[in-house]
Order: sequence, then C-alpha cells, then structure tokens
Amino acid sequence: MPISHVHGYLRHIMDECAPDRSGAVADYIPELAAVDADGYALSMCMHDGNTYSLGDVGVEFTIQSVSKPLTYALALTRLDVAEVDGKIGVEPSGEAFNEISVDERRRPRNPMINAGAILASSMLLPPVRSLPAGAVDKAFDELVEFYSGCAGRHLTIDEQVYASEAATGSRNRAIVYMLDSFGAVDTDPEAALDLYFRQCSLRVTSDDLAAIAATIAAGGVNPRTGRRVLSNEVAQRLLSVMTTCGMYDGAGDWVTSVGLPAKSGVGGGILAVLPGQLGIGVYSPRLDQHGNSVRGVDTCRRLSRDLGLHMFNVTRESRVSIRSVYSIGEFEVGADWDELQRSYLRTCRDRVRVYELQGDLTFAGAERALRRIESDLDDLDVAIVEISRVGVIDPVARTMLLGIKHTTDVRGQRAMLVDPDGVVRESVDSHRSDFVVPNLNAPEQLRGLDPTLPHVHSTMEAAVRDAEEFQLESFRRP
Ligand code: GLU
Repeated sequence: MPISHVHGYLRHIMDECAPDRSGAVADYIPELAAVDADGYALSMCMHDGNTYSLGDVGVEFTIQSVSKPLTYALALTRLDVAEVDGKIGVEPSGEAFNEISVDERRRPRNPMINAGAILASSMLLPPVRSLPAGAVDKAFDELVEFYSGCAGRHLTIDEQVYASEAATGSRNRAIVYMLDSFGAVDTDPEAALDLYFRQCSLRVTSDDLAAIAATIAAGGVNPRTGRRVLSNEVAQRLLSVMTTCGMYDGAGDWVTSVGLPAKSGVGGGILAVLPGQLGIGVYSPRLDQHGNSVRGVDTCRRLSRDLGLHMFNVTRESRVSIRSVYSIGEFEVGADWDELQRSYLRTCRDRVRVYELQGDLTFAGAERALRRIESDLDDLDVAIVEISRVGVIDPVARTMLLGIKHTTDVRGQRAMLVDPDGVVRESVDSHRSDFVVPNLNAPEQLRGLDPTLPHVHSTMEAAVRDAEEFQLESFRRP
C-alpha cells in the first residue's frame, strides 16, 4: 500500500511545528523535569479505529490533567447526574487550573480545574469518612479499568510520579481540605487526594489519547474494540465541558482558533475531539505559561486550519462518503476499437473500478474514500471517483481527491474524476485564496491543479473511454 496522503499531511504539519523549542517542561516534580523535552508524537484515530501514528508514539508519559474528563465521566456514570451537578459546576472559570476557587454555591466551577477534578475523584469512593481497608485500591482498579476501556489497552501507573505527586501536593491538599470545610467531601479527604494523584500518574501514549478522544467522538463506543464504555449523554456532557473549560484559562481563544473540544495535561499530552469524526492525541512536553504543550497547541491549531477540522465546519452526511464501488463491467466496450482491442479490453474490465461518493466532503470523508481506494490499488489499472452526488467539497477534501492522481501516477496507474456538476470547479472558485494544503507527496503543481486537467470528466462514459485508452497503452498485438 502506498504511503497515504493523510500520513503525508500529518507529517508535514509536524515538520512545521517541530522547530519550536519554546516553553519548558513541568518541573514541580523531578520525574517530569527529567523527560526528553524534545519528544514529539501525533496520533489520529478515525471513526472506524484506523489510526495514523507519527513520531514518538512509543513514548509513555503521565496522563495528568487529561484524566479529569475521564474521572468526571466515571462519576456521571456511577452517580445520578443531578447529584454530580449539585457538587461540581459546568462554568468556565477563566482562572488557572490550580486556583483555589469556588462559585457562589461553594461548588468548584467545573470538573476541569483541580478543585472540581479532586471532588469528582472523591465521588468514586464510598461516602463514609472512615473507609474500609483497600477502598482506594478498589476504586482505583475500577478507574483503571474504565480508562483502559477508553484507550483500548490496559494502562498502568508510573509509581515514581505517583510518589512524587503525593509528596509534593500541598496545594491540592489545601484544595481538598477547603472543599471539606464547606462540607462538600463525603469521604476521607486524604483518600480522595490519593485517588486523584494515582489517576494523574497513569501512563499513556499519543495513540492512547487518540483512541480515548475517538471514543468520546463516537458518543462513547471505542472504535478500536467496538465496546461501549460511555453513554451518549455522558459523552455529550464531556464534549460540552471540554469545549468551554478544557484548555486551562485559554479556553475562549482555543474554541475560536481550533474549535476542537480538548484537554491538556502538564505531562505534555493533549487530547482533542472532532465530534462524530475523529480523535487526536499529541505529545510534546514543553509547556506554555498556561500549562499547555506548546507544540501540542500549535499542532492542533494547524490540524484545524489546514485540514478544516473546526467543529463548526458544518457538513451533511459526513459519515457516508462512499455510496458504492463497482467495476465497469456493465459498460459496453467502446465500439470504435478494433476486434483485438475490444477482446483485450473485455479481459480487464474489473481492473477499472468506480467509487461513487456522496454527502458533503471534508477531511474525514475524503480520508475514508482515499484509504479505501489506496487499499484497492494493487488490483487496479484505473480508479474512477464519481462525485455527482457530492454536495460541497471543502478545499482540503478537494486537494486530497486531486492528490490521488499523484499516487496513481507514480505507480503507473490512472485516477479519474467524474464531476458532472463542476463541484470541484465551484469549490476552487469559492475557496479562500490563501489556502494552501500541505502535501508532501504531491508535486508543486498539484496545489494549483487546474480542474480541467484531462482526468476530470463530466460523464461516466467519457471516463470509461479514457480508461480504455489508458489500458490499451499496455496492449501488445499478438
Ligand atoms: N497532577 C497535577 C496537579 O494536579 C496535574 C496538573 C495538570 O496536568 O494540569 O497538580
């Protein structure tokens, strides 16, 4: 299978972000200060579980605050939603993550700041002050099982990070005792804190974050295992809270410029979700002044901008991109070829395949279509992409579709587009003139590719004729 275009796009985005060495790794505990500051990984998990993994995807780092939405989800799942809402608000605080703040009802403002997160952890413990032996272990086992279900593999704790977090957590201790003084903690405050430190110390990779994000994107079903781990309602709640409160105090700017519900952690991870479509995990441990990964933020920004992933980039039917796939057997071989040519062409009808697309095409839909075509290419001479049922193509999807030509050209094959309504032409006319889609695999001229190039046809008959001409190039008369 050829190196996919999507892989090329992601690689290009990483290459652009990689030189930025600004920011500093978290140093409040020695274990975080000791990580390789240059580590950098990007993973994207599609709605069917297919994952693009680039860079240091084997590196495990601690999940830290990316755990907050997950523990909140678990609390919402276990307890009555009204009960959780009675204790933890859902308003953005606009304050730093570890601010010792509560609203007028003395509730932590949201579950993404430490006060709300620690309270969510406390709600996973039995509501008694004097806990039975092993209560934290039991709650933690259940928590790990839930996180692992979201990631699609068993996660383990980093014991050193956990020990350091516990030894240095004065501020978090202050937070839990403040909440306790308000009567908000129903369990042993030390146990709640212990559970919170353990959850922060779980090790993940960028692939894990992408899988968790894709699970939330899919309304709670892990696309890699097919298991439902969250209800649709809880997934919706998470997306809402991550949108308004996920990125520490930079949430408004984040929604505007990136538009992907997200959560970051001081371990250098960011998890971002495009609802209904895909999940992203990025790892790069140098942090900005808010505690967000510098290159992680930049990577998400570029992913959103260059690949059109902003959640309010609204389209119809983005999930149903391939309507049908068939070979051209049902079309008569052209009448004007001679007898020998016609019988040769009849032997290779199934090496010309038509891919009918439908709906509005954005990155995720085009990715699905291209992946399907690329995986079939070994059996084909010609791939014909039929887009008469496509409504709108955004500039990224258009470039991706046209980019298939490059993949087939280098393999000595041919790709064609059947575009009766000139949808490709229309999207060329209307798209932002400064839009440049990164494409490492594409030659320079592809970026400004003229849609009237010969491989774009207005009828299927013309495309079939073109395919026959192409197949005849390799026909040798006996
Ligand atoms: N364990 C860290 C704390 O609670 C997590 C901080 C973070 O990732 O934002 O202080």
